[in-house]
Amino acid sequence: MIRLLDDQSCARCPALVASRSRIVHGYGDTSARIVFIGEAPGQRGADRTGVPFSGDKSGRALQRMLIALGLSEDPQPNDQPQLRCFVTNIVRCCPPTNRTPTPREQASCAAFLAAELDAIDPQIIVPIGLPALRVVAQRYLGEVPRTIRPLHAKPIHTAERVIVPLIHPSRISRTQIAAFVAAIRGVLESMELFNVTETGRTPGQHL
Ligand code: URA
Repeated sequence: MIRLLDDQSCARCPALVASRSRIVHGYGDTSARIVFIGEAPGQRGADRTGVPFSGDKSGRALQRMLIALGLSEDPQPNDQPQLRCFVTNIVRCCPPTNRTPTPREQASCAAFLAAELDAIDPQIIVPIGLPALRVVAQRYLGEVPRTIRPLHAKPIHTAERVIVPLIHPSRISRTQIAAFVAAIRGVLESMELFNVTETGRTPGQHL
Protein backbone atom coordinates (compact mmCIF):
# COMPACT_ATOMS: atom_id res chain seq x y z
CA MET A 1 0.00 0.00 0.00
CA ILE A 2 1.89 3.04 -1.11
CA ARG A 3 1.68 6.65 -2.11
CA LEU A 4 3.36 7.74 -5.30
CA LEU A 5 3.89 11.28 -4.01
CA ASP A 6 5.06 12.65 -0.68
CA ASP A 7 5.41 16.41 -1.25
CA GLN A 8 4.33 18.10 1.99
CA SER A 9 5.73 21.54 1.23
CA CYS A 10 3.45 22.92 -1.48
CA ALA A 11 2.33 26.49 -0.69
CA ARG A 12 0.79 27.55 -3.98
CA CYS A 13 -2.75 28.22 -2.66
CA PRO A 14 -2.73 30.57 0.37
CA ALA A 15 -6.33 29.79 1.40
CA LEU A 16 -5.64 26.06 1.35
CA VAL A 17 -2.34 26.37 3.21
CA ALA A 18 -4.33 28.11 5.96
CA SER A 19 -7.17 25.56 6.02
CA ARG A 20 -5.34 22.25 5.65
CA SER A 21 -3.87 20.10 8.41
CA ARG A 22 -1.75 18.17 5.92
CA ILE A 23 -1.32 17.50 2.20
CA VAL A 24 -3.15 14.27 1.30
CA HIS A 25 -1.90 12.45 -1.79
CA GLY A 26 -3.38 9.35 -3.43
CA TYR A 27 -3.18 6.03 -1.61
CA GLY A 28 -3.60 2.37 -2.48
CA ASP A 29 -2.32 -0.23 -4.90
CA THR A 30 -0.15 1.53 -7.46
CA SER A 31 -0.33 -1.46 -9.81
CA ALA A 32 -4.14 -1.50 -9.70
CA ARG A 33 -6.00 -1.02 -12.95
CA ILE A 34 -8.75 1.06 -11.38
CA VAL A 35 -8.38 4.56 -9.92
CA PHE A 36 -11.03 6.53 -8.00
CA ILE A 37 -10.69 10.33 -8.05
CA GLY A 38 -12.53 12.58 -5.58
CA GLU A 39 -12.60 16.33 -5.08
CA ALA A 40 -10.43 17.22 -2.06
CA PRO A 41 -9.71 15.86 1.44
CA GLY A 42 -12.72 16.20 3.73
CA GLN A 43 -12.36 18.31 6.88
CA ARG A 44 -13.59 15.54 9.18
CA GLY A 45 -11.97 12.71 7.22
CA ALA A 46 -8.89 12.72 4.99
CA ASP A 47 -7.57 16.01 6.39
CA ARG A 48 -7.43 14.28 9.79
CA THR A 49 -6.43 10.75 8.73
CA GLY A 50 -4.11 11.55 5.81
CA VAL A 51 -5.88 8.91 3.69
CA PRO A 52 -8.33 9.97 0.94
CA PHE A 53 -11.94 8.96 1.63
CA SER A 54 -11.45 7.72 5.17
CA GLY A 55 -12.75 8.74 8.55
CA ASP A 56 -15.92 10.53 7.44
CA LYS A 57 -19.37 9.75 6.02
CA SER A 58 -18.27 10.02 2.37
CA GLY A 59 -15.29 7.79 3.08
CA ARG A 60 -17.43 5.12 4.74
CA ALA A 61 -19.93 5.21 1.84
CA LEU A 62 -17.14 4.77 -0.73
CA GLN A 63 -15.51 2.02 1.38
CA ARG A 64 -18.79 0.08 1.37
CA MET A 65 -18.86 0.24 -2.43
CA LEU A 66 -15.20 -0.84 -2.67
CA ILE A 67 -15.77 -3.76 -0.30
CA ALA A 68 -18.85 -4.84 -2.29
CA LEU A 69 -16.66 -4.85 -5.40
CA GLY A 70 -13.81 -6.78 -3.76
CA LEU A 71 -11.56 -3.71 -4.10
CA SER A 72 -11.01 -3.18 -0.36
CA GLU A 73 -10.77 -5.23 2.80
CA ASP A 74 -13.21 -4.29 5.55
CA PRO A 75 -10.92 -2.07 7.71
CA GLN A 76 -10.85 -2.10 11.51
CA PRO A 77 -12.05 1.29 12.87
CA ASN A 78 -8.56 2.82 13.25
CA ASP A 79 -6.74 0.97 10.46
CA GLN A 80 -5.95 2.25 7.01
CA PRO A 81 -8.03 0.46 4.37
CA GLN A 82 -6.26 -2.28 2.40
CA LEU A 83 -7.07 -1.38 -1.19
CA ARG A 84 -6.94 -3.28 -4.47
CA CYS A 85 -7.40 0.02 -6.26
CA PHE A 86 -5.94 3.52 -5.98
CA VAL A 87 -7.92 6.39 -4.42
CA THR A 88 -6.95 10.01 -4.88
CA ASN A 89 -8.31 13.56 -5.26
CA ILE A 90 -7.99 16.36 -7.79
CA VAL A 91 -6.92 18.74 -4.97
CA ARG A 92 -4.59 17.70 -2.14
CA CYS A 93 -5.55 20.18 0.59
CA CYS A 94 -8.82 20.49 2.49
CA PRO A 95 -10.54 23.76 1.47
CA PRO A 96 -12.06 26.05 4.12
CA THR A 97 -15.50 24.76 5.25
CA ASN A 98 -15.21 21.92 2.70
CA ARG A 99 -16.03 24.30 -0.17
CA THR A 100 -15.37 23.19 -3.74
CA PRO A 101 -11.80 24.08 -4.75
CA THR A 102 -11.68 27.10 -7.07
CA PRO A 103 -10.64 26.62 -10.72
CA ARG A 104 -7.33 28.29 -9.84
CA GLU A 105 -6.74 25.87 -6.92
CA GLN A 106 -7.63 22.93 -9.16
CA ALA A 107 -5.17 24.14 -11.79
CA SER A 108 -2.41 24.66 -9.20
CA CYS A 109 -2.84 21.07 -8.02
CA ALA A 110 -3.21 19.44 -11.45
CA ALA A 111 0.38 18.21 -11.70
CA PHE A 112 -0.05 15.88 -8.69
CA LEU A 113 -2.99 14.01 -10.21
CA ALA A 114 -1.32 13.97 -13.64
CA ALA A 115 1.79 12.37 -12.11
CA GLU A 116 -0.30 9.64 -10.45
CA LEU A 117 -2.32 8.91 -13.60
CA ASP A 118 0.82 8.86 -15.76
CA ALA A 119 2.50 6.40 -13.38
CA ILE A 120 -0.48 4.06 -12.87
CA ASP A 121 -1.98 4.34 -16.36
CA PRO A 122 -5.29 2.82 -15.18
CA GLN A 123 -7.73 0.98 -17.43
CA ILE A 124 -10.73 2.12 -15.40
CA ILE A 125 -11.17 5.60 -13.94
CA VAL A 126 -13.98 6.59 -11.58
CA PRO A 127 -14.39 10.35 -11.23
CA ILE A 128 -16.32 10.99 -8.01
CA GLY A 129 -18.51 14.10 -8.23
CA LEU A 130 -18.73 16.75 -10.94
CA PRO A 131 -15.40 18.58 -10.36
CA ALA A 132 -13.48 15.30 -10.73
CA LEU A 133 -15.58 14.28 -13.73
CA ARG A 134 -14.76 17.58 -15.42
CA VAL A 135 -11.02 17.10 -14.85
CA VAL A 136 -11.07 13.48 -16.09
CA ALA A 137 -13.25 14.33 -19.09
CA GLN A 138 -10.96 17.21 -20.06
CA ARG A 139 -7.92 14.93 -19.93
CA TYR A 140 -9.30 11.83 -21.62
CA LEU A 141 -12.32 12.96 -23.67
CA GLY A 142 -11.44 16.56 -24.57
CA GLU A 143 -14.90 17.82 -23.59
CA VAL A 144 -16.32 18.89 -20.24
CA PRO A 145 -19.84 17.92 -19.07
CA ARG A 146 -22.05 20.41 -17.20
CA THR A 147 -23.75 17.86 -14.94
CA ILE A 148 -22.98 14.39 -13.61
CA ARG A 149 -26.46 12.93 -12.97
CA PRO A 150 -27.24 11.72 -16.52
CA LEU A 151 -23.74 10.18 -16.70
CA HIS A 152 -23.77 8.44 -13.31
CA ALA A 153 -22.80 4.73 -13.54
CA LYS A 154 -22.74 4.85 -17.36
CA PRO A 155 -19.41 3.53 -18.65
CA ILE A 156 -17.75 5.81 -21.22
CA HIS A 157 -15.39 3.81 -23.42
CA THR A 158 -12.31 5.33 -25.01
CA ALA A 159 -9.75 3.44 -27.07
CA GLU A 160 -7.57 2.77 -24.01
CA ARG A 161 -9.77 2.96 -20.92
CA VAL A 162 -13.24 3.12 -19.43
CA ILE A 163 -14.51 6.07 -17.39
CA VAL A 164 -17.40 5.40 -15.00
CA PRO A 165 -18.75 8.58 -13.34
CA LEU A 166 -19.96 8.30 -9.74
CA ILE A 167 -22.23 10.82 -8.00
CA HIS A 168 -20.37 12.02 -4.89
CA PRO A 169 -21.01 9.64 -1.93
CA SER A 170 -22.16 12.59 0.19
CA ARG A 171 -25.16 13.02 -2.14
CA ILE A 172 -25.84 9.50 -3.44
CA SER A 173 -28.97 7.34 -3.03
CA ARG A 174 -29.10 3.58 -2.44
CA THR A 175 -30.46 3.04 -5.94
CA GLN A 176 -27.58 5.04 -7.42
CA ILE A 177 -25.09 3.02 -5.34
CA ALA A 178 -26.58 -0.24 -6.63
CA ALA A 179 -26.43 1.03 -10.23
CA PHE A 180 -22.79 2.03 -9.80
CA VAL A 181 -21.76 -1.31 -8.27
CA ALA A 182 -23.51 -3.17 -11.10
CA ALA A 183 -21.81 -0.97 -13.71
CA ILE A 184 -18.32 -1.47 -12.28
CA ARG A 185 -18.92 -5.18 -11.86
CA GLY A 186 -19.89 -5.35 -15.54
CA VAL A 187 -16.76 -3.49 -16.61
CA LEU A 188 -14.51 -5.62 -14.38
CA GLU A 189 -16.14 -8.83 -15.64
CA SER A 190 -15.67 -7.76 -19.23
CA MET A 191 -12.00 -7.17 -18.42
CA GLU A 192 -11.82 -10.43 -16.43
CA LEU A 193 -10.55 -8.64 -13.32
CA PHE A 194 -13.46 -9.50 -11.08
CA ASN A 195 -12.91 -12.19 -8.44
CA VAL A 196 -14.71 -13.18 -5.29
CA THR A 197 -12.98 -11.43 -2.37
CA GLU A 198 -10.42 -13.32 -0.32
CA THR A 199 -12.88 -13.47 2.56
CA GLY A 200 -15.13 -15.56 0.36
CA ARG A 201 -17.91 -12.99 0.34
CA THR A 202 -20.03 -12.74 -2.71
CA PRO A 203 -19.32 -9.25 -4.08
CA GLY A 204 -22.39 -7.08 -3.68
CA GLN A 205 -23.76 -8.60 -0.49
CA HIS A 206 -23.03 -5.44 1.52
CA LEU A 207 -25.38 -3.25 -0.47
N1 URA B 1 -12.78 12.76 1.11
C1 URA B 1 -11.94 12.83 0.07
O1 URA B 1 -10.78 12.44 0.16
N2 URA B 1 -12.40 13.33 -1.09
C2 URA B 1 -13.65 13.77 -1.25
O2 URA B 1 -14.02 14.19 -2.35
C3 URA B 1 -14.51 13.69 -0.14
C4 URA B 1 -14.05 13.18 1.03
